[in-house]
Amino acid sequence: MNSFKALGLNEALLQAVSDLGFETPSEVQQKTIPILLEDETDLVALAQTGTGKTAAFGFPLIQKIHSESRTTQGIILSPTRELCLQITNEMHLYSKYVKGLNIVAIYGGASITEQARQIKKGAQIIVATPGRMKDMIGRGMIDISKIDYCILDEADEMLNMGFYEDIKDILSTTPEEKSTWLFSATMPKEVASIAKKFMFNPKEVTVGGRNTGVDTVQHEYYVVSGRDRYEALKRLADANPGIFSVVFCRTKRDTQRVAEKLIEDGYNAGALHGDLSQNQRDLVMNAFRKNQIQMLVATDVAARGIDVDDISHVINYQLPDEIETYTHRSGRTGRAGKSGISMVIITRSELRKIKTIENIIKQKFEAKKIPSGMEICEIQLYHLASKIRNTKINEAVDNYLPAIHDVLEGIDREELIKKIVSVEFTRFYSYYSKVKDLNTSESPGGKGSLNDMPGAEAQTGDSVRYFINVGEKDGYDWMSLKDFLKETLGVGKEDVNRVDVKDSFSFFNTDASLTDLILSTFRDFKVDGRYVNVEVSKNPESGGRKGRDKGRRKKKERRREDTGRRSKAKKSGRRSGKKKNKFRDGFY
Ligand code: AMP
Repeated sequence: MNSFKALGLNEALLQAVSDLGFETPSEVQQKTIPILLEDETDLVALAQTGTGKTAAFGFPLIQKIHSESRTTQGIILSPTRELCLQITNEMHLYSKYVKGLNIVAIYGGASITEQARQIKKGAQIIVATPGRMKDMIGRGMIDISKIDYCILDEADEMLNMGFYEDIKDILSTTPEEKSTWLFSATMPKEVASIAKKFMFNPKEVTVGGRNTGVDTVQHEYYVVSGRDRYEALKRLADANPGIFSVVFCRTKRDTQRVAEKLIEDGYNAGALHGDLSQNQRDLVMNAFRKNQIQMLVATDVAARGIDVDDISHVINYQLPDEIETYTHRSGRTGRAGKSGISMVIITRSELRKIKTIENIIKQKFEAKKIPSGMEICEIQLYHLASKIRNTKINEAVDNYLPAIHDVLEGIDREELIKKIVSVEFTRFYSYYSKVKDLNTSESPGGKGSLNDMPGAEAQTGDSVRYFINVGEKDGYDWMSLKDFLKETLGVGKEDVNRVDVKDSFSFFNTDASLTDLILSTFRDFKVDGRYVNVEVSKNPESGGRKGRDKGRRKKKERRREDTGRRSKAKKSGRRSGKKKNKFRDGFY
């Protein structure tokens, strides 16, 4: 069936379809519309956003509603305010030739009395976020006891965001004989259990592949001593310069405290928890959406409303009390077809919880080490270099160029590069060149020396760390870079590990026996006409054996050069006043 008419749509809808310029029904529309128009049935449809699923349930719903009656006949639950408004807009467009149809959106963060007023006028279809819907039912502002249709859109997302209880409560106030249509991009077991519990013999429709949605997130844990949690958090942030993250704490107090400390230390951080007013929460969320906040420290409850797609990292500052909550936390990243990383900062005594989580998520964690100070310096240095390279030139500088040339006269290119980089790097280096290793060995009485030896994992084994000049900007994430290396080198998946992708460069480790193969493979190696260059990491602590001595020498030299500046930096206070922000800003 490749026309909307053949699917069984009525004139009013066909007219709207024609106005919208839709020519042929999409796959999900072809598969669902005839079923929904023909039968009164429950349905489970697996379809991603952007496949035309709103019309797939919207067209049949509009066609089946009796617009001459003012009773609420259909509800659509969606995870976020944005999606709720988007669905409502689309539904308005689809139903523009249907007289008397009133479709109302209700969602948190806006006036509840105004929304109640709209509903009172008679809304045959209500599009809602679960929290607000439950609230309004509780206050007697909405009556859904006579609905015929209940649509759960992006069911996996709603569950990820912790709306299970709300959905359950809402469904319990609806009539049993209604039809439920569930749309979801993925089918984790929580969604399957909703389908089982609340639906009767649902028909199933799948568009594209069946995706469990778990493999887009890499899970990592870092074992530290309890008192080093905060320091570990900072290092994880510093080792990921482009980080855009949600940091989960267990209590409101910890959330506030960690956010305050991060801000004090010059990070772009914000707190989100239940003790803040709605207004304060809106301000924080807006700043987060605009990427002005890179580390959003949140409680589980407050994080329910987070509807941002590009979160690169979820950091579990502490594990949740209810271990199942971990799935909701990690589901904040790796969304909308992107990959993400979920990190857990953990103490040795909590380690067994990792096993429990692995059983729940059916995925293995990677045991990782908190980066050493020198590893962070190396990452920041490359980040700085790529930032300089990608900086858009400000033409206003032209007027001052002759004078600038005068000031910089006599300095050659090599020296100039060193100086430019040092402007920002020295402050970073002077902090990180003297910090301790934070890693704790996993077993008590195990290799305690790990404590004293930065990046020991890389040094004790025969592991070598490499730098490669491709990163996120080239479209790589940890998964695809690992695949690329594996294929290019003709080695196994286990041979390439510790893949860390940064914005325009990355790092990875292999066994030392592969170093010659790697360096020879990537000699004069081009992808799409561009040189892809791999070098043994110059950082002495990260296992770059060849670079180690050189690194040490360099470090000493730099130290000597640095001494003067460092004491100055100390006086001006890395950790006080405006300087701190400047320190951080330079690296983001
Ligand atoms: P959705 O997956 O519902 O978010 O839809 C994605 C976009 O595709 C929306 O902007 C719809 O207006 C549009 N759309 C839905 N169905 C069709 C169709 N059959 N042909 C062209 N565009 C469509």
